[in-house]
Amino acid sequence: MLSLDTHISTLSPILKRRASALAELGLVAVRDALLHFPSRHEDFRAGVALAAIEAGANVSVIAQVVKAKSRPRFGRRMSLTEATLTDGSSEIVAVWFNQPYRAKSLVPGRAFRFTGKAARSRFGVQLQNPQVEPAETVQRSSEEVNDLLPVYPTTVGVSQQVLRLLMRHALPALDLIEDPLPENIREQFALLSLRDAIEQVHFPESAARAAAARRRLGFDELLRVQLSLGRMRRLREARPAPKISFDERATKEFVASLPFTLTDDQRRAAWAALGDMTSGRQMHRLLDGDVGSGKTVVAAIAAMNVARAGFQVAIMAPTEILACQHFATLSRLFVDQPFTIALWTNAYKRSATGGKEIICEGKKETSRLGKEIADGEVSIIIGTHALVEDTMRFSSLALAVVDEQHRFGVKMRSLLCAKSGMPGLEPHLLSMTATPIPRSLALAVFGDLDLSVLKEKPKGRQEVETRLVFRKERGAAYAAVRNEIAAGRQAFVVCPLIDPSDMLGAASVTEEFKLLKKHELKGITIGMLHGKMSSPEKEKAMADFLARRTKVLVSTSVVEVGVDVPNATVMCIEGAERFGLSQLHQFRGRIGRAEHRSYCFLLPGSFSPTVKERLMAVVHHKDGFSLAERDLTMRGPGDVLGTAQSGFPEFRLASFADTRLISEAKEAAEMILADDPELKQHAALKRELKQYAERAHLE
Ligand code: ADP
Ligand code: MG
Repeated sequence: MLSLDTHISTLSPILKRRASALAELGLVAVRDALLHFPSRHEDFRAGVALAAIEAGANVSVIAQVVKAKSRPRFGRRMSLTEATLTDGSSEIVAVWFNQPYRAKSLVPGRAFRFTGKAARSRFGVQLQNPQVEPAETVQRSSEEVNDLLPVYPTTVGVSQQVLRLLMRHALPALDLIEDPLPENIREQFALLSLRDAIEQVHFPESAARAAAARRRLGFDELLRVQLSLGRMRRLREARPAPKISFDERATKEFVASLPFTLTDDQRRAAWAALGDMTSGRQMHRLLDGDVGSGKTVVAAIAAMNVARAGFQVAIMAPTEILACQHFATLSRLFVDQPFTIALWTNAYKRSATGGKEIICEGKKETSRLGKEIADGEVSIIIGTHALVEDTMRFSSLALAVVDEQHRFGVKMRSLLCAKSGMPGLEPHLLSMTATPIPRSLALAVFGDLDLSVLKEKPKGRQEVETRLVFRKERGAAYAAVRNEIAAGRQAFVVCPLIDPSDMLGAASVTEEFKLLKKHELKGITIGMLHGKMSSPEKEKAMADFLARRTKVLVSTSVVEVGVDVPNATVMCIEGAERFGLSQLHQFRGRIGRAEHRSYCFLLPGSFSPTVKERLMAVVHHKDGFSLAERDLTMRGPGDVLGTAQSGFPEFRLASFADTRLISEAKEAAEMILADDPELKQHAALKRELKQYAERAHLE
């Protein structure tokens, strides 16, 4: 008897032989197979004539082999198999790389179905690495296939045919599938039953049915996220947090003392955060603003109110450089405030009151500062992850600010929140990110609540002119760098790696530093900055650059976050293809911070059509939000939000662009939780949710 737990190797001899490769895909039992959804469906129109095939198209054609042969390429290590195919009236060439066995099976005169991509080559349009199926088997299963072919995620040694075979064998177990979704939700949102959805995603009767199946399965993914978010929100709202009364007069005075006028977005965000903190419920606000949009001052307004109300604030930054910079900025901004602020990183311990700075060195001074923090004599503590260490104590931590929050995992944030020093109370949380989060993503992941976006740029910001630099134009790009330096400006050079040994072929900081000194930037003072340097070395490199003692700073991605050097007007990004689009935009945000015209040169280490397309998107889109939308469609959410963003759901069927389905899932989650917050009557959903939360490391 077939059950959902039946081992797939018992289904057929072919599957038995592939069992270990299938297990690598997580396919062990029949249940796994049914839930292994295709990543897409290819729409193959029947009867495409070979003559009509265009470059770039996905095609599936039945054709006869005219001739086929394999030959070595680039010496002995590669091979190229070429076959000439005909449909009776015209011919096309198909090529395979490193599949020398192909030639043997492609017997002239026999017909096969070739499925794959057509691409332009020097010899005209070719089929590249198509899959091959004997034409006889195609005719036998053509009714099932019906022009819509599921394409499954797979691995080496498992072909699409094997996966399709597996699905055919697993399908009879379909009626054993339990649908965790309540009937009323299914009806209200016009969703297929889970049984039908699974059947139609593997063996679609029509394009419309396949779309309906994807919609139902995508809905399930979104619903799980929305249910977890909804439950977290309920927990949070039930959790008491310190009530911070907001000092309107002091806030107005502070805002008036700033050397600039706040943008409306900054005003709104600060106001929202102050409102959250007076409510008595824990704030969980994400402040999302493009690089240079001025998030720090918003955090400063919130921090000032908390400090004046007699509580403490912790501001956590991902790097020492950034923590030092925040400390310097805030000691300036808070020069007239009646409270003390401190810097607490592994290398630096300092405090400042009324602009007067005390540097703590040695064990005695350090532990005195630690005690002052623990006793509540210091109001605002700025630091790195050193703030969450066990020895760190606060007396009344009421606000935790996490800068560049995507650099920290969920765990770091909750560690900090567990340290309020006030039994039963957790601090309010203000997270800041320069990663522009598209609205659709915010809605899906953050449930749209508690998000403040700084879209408007502060006045006087220059647009950065970005150019893609081809290899032969390299010299010209560095000539432009020398011109800027001659005009008194400074430059960043960003490289993907620290040492040349880290990975073959990519530009490294140490190597580039030497080469630039010898060639392109001969005679110019160059500094170097990367994560393996000691803290004093890093500080010196930054200080030298800020004081213009070095004109060029060659660095790794450490300059990505925060660093503020208004005199820098030009940036060269070596190995640009190795960075995400949003990351490139962040780099570029380091320049164009003053009135001077600024230039960013993208210098890829290797070119391909995809590299070019991605980098041209950075050239054309000046705005981080539209770039993030593109990154999302080109690479998926994990890359947009950065890898440290654990707890981020990976969707297989749902699309972040489908805001309508996202809202529907959200509405459904609210309906379910309103009646049954503990999911007591929804045992199947609850079980699924638990598995999902474990996989996604959600709280
Ligand atoms: P980010 O959002 O990237 O963290 P910062 O907070 O570091 O940006 O601000 C970047 C620069 O812009 C700082 O030098 C800051 O003083 C300045 N700034 C912030 N808000 C404004 C504003 N409203 N008008 C002009 N300059 C501003
Ligand atoms: Mg910042």
